[in-house]
Amino acid sequence: MTDKQYILSLDLGTTGNRAILFDRQGNVVGQTYQELTQHYPQPGWLEHDATEIWRDVKQATERVIADNQAQATEIAAIGLTVQRETCLLWDKTTGEPLHKAIVWQDRRTADLCDRLKAEGKAEVIQQKTGLVLDAYFSATKLAWLINWVKQNKPDLNWDNVMAGTIDTWALWNLTGKQVHATDVSNASRTMLMNLDTGNWDDSLLELFNIPRQIMPEIKPSMGMFGNSSSDLLGVEIPITAIFGDQQAALFAHGCDRPGLLKCTYGTGCFLVAQTGTQVTRSNNQLLSTVAWSTEKQTNYALEGAIFTTGAAIQWLRDGLKLITSAAETEALCNSVDNTNGVYFVPALSGLGAPHWDMKARGAFLGITGGVQREHMIRSVLEAIAYQVKEVVNAVNQDSANPVSLLKIDGGAAQNNFLMQFQADALGVPLERPVVLDATAQGAAFGAGLAVGFWDDYQKLISDRQIDRIFEPGKGQFLAQDNFAMWSKAVTRAKNWIE
Ligand code: ADP
Repeated sequence: MTDKQYILSLDLGTTGNRAILFDRQGNVVGQTYQELTQHYPQPGWLEHDATEIWRDVKQATERVIADNQAQATEIAAIGLTVQRETCLLWDKTTGEPLHKAIVWQDRRTADLCDRLKAEGKAEVIQQKTGLVLDAYFSATKLAWLINWVKQNKPDLNWDNVMAGTIDTWALWNLTGKQVHATDVSNASRTMLMNLDTGNWDDSLLELFNIPRQIMPEIKPSMGMFGNSSSDLLGVEIPITAIFGDQQAALFAHGCDRPGLLKCTYGTGCFLVAQTGTQVTRSNNQLLSTVAWSTEKQTNYALEGAIFTTGAAIQWLRDGLKLITSAAETEALCNSVDNTNGVYFVPALSGLGAPHWDMKARGAFLGITGGVQREHMIRSVLEAIAYQVKEVVNAVNQDSANPVSLLKIDGGAAQNNFLMQFQADALGVPLERPVVLDATAQGAAFGAGLAVGFWDDYQKLISDRQIDRIFEPGKGQFLAQDNFAMWSKAVTRAKNWIE
């Protein structure tokens, strides 16, 4: 066992980038956070500036160490967890991105997906990757970026181009431009990895016109990825875990056996159920995906991905300016008894599980003259819970044992109104841990276990403290009744754009 004090976890999310120091008890010692600029060049498009991401990671890392009077030499390992599917191309000679990163919510490749569907490709893609053919995943985004670069930089030498998801970009920069790799949980979200082999699938690379040499090496989620460059913190620190953000949260919740599942409430909501060491296929439009892997073993999961949940709250703040902070929605929702007949369809980026409708768009329905700001806001929060209910229903249909407890985390899980309404809508209890940054915690646990900082995963899990259990209460009859009306609203908003 090492005598070091900390594990550094880097959590590169959709809305912001975080650096967190964890101590040997698995507790948060300190953290820094920097909100990330969202670029909306056209309706339905969303981009991130990868240069900003790397700059913020560097600053957040330096600050978290300085603010907590820690020394870089006391850090045993770095764990990295990232928003998934978001991808970019960069030039390895200049280190500069060739275009902004295309974010997972971006719908610009919906037409390409429709074309591939019409050509009958959806089935083989689902068979190989476990994923539903949708603009959400990286493959069509990378194809778009490659086309753009070919048109706009025709003289570029493709031997100098690197492709990657955000983990790959961060790892390459962290290691001083030495290591071009990803982990299998992130790779499983690109729609280019064969779920059975854990390798890039040549026929899929060909289908999307992606040269194999620009793709990173796929490695186990826990194990040695490389050392951080001494230019960064003065010493080299091993990077020993990389997870997609949802898989990291699953790991932090201790969901390592079939039957255990969690839901993370961030920009989107992601319900992920551990399925063990075999790939399980869904009959209800859930995704089959890698949970995590070590050199010895790969674990798989079923997932319901919902695109717009916390993002709708950000939109209430930044777009509609109905609120000034996400946190104030709790009191506003509690100040009214119901939504006064208003239903919100959060299809701001189309609809994910279980609808997979790239052409759905957002809608408020049922508005009458008496409707006030609070009702509109409450309808947005209720819609988050209803979307999760749809996915829980799909999981129940796929599994012999109905969901009886939901482990929760993520920024929006702080909202007590939302969590109580969720328990009411589902009719099952919710378990909220004290550390809501399960994503960062999962990456820290993975990195610490891989380097011998910790040696007992089960103990780490059992030492986690529960903050609160939300039991279904008196609101459950109304919440469950209104679900039918909300579903009707969803039907109206589907297939909206041509
Ligand atoms: P991500 O990793 O996707 O960036 P986080 O887990 O950091 O997401 O959560 C951020 C999201 O949580 C934002 O979309 C924000 O609107 C939402 N959020 C944060 N605090 C609250 C709150 N008190 N009530 C409701 N939503 C919240």
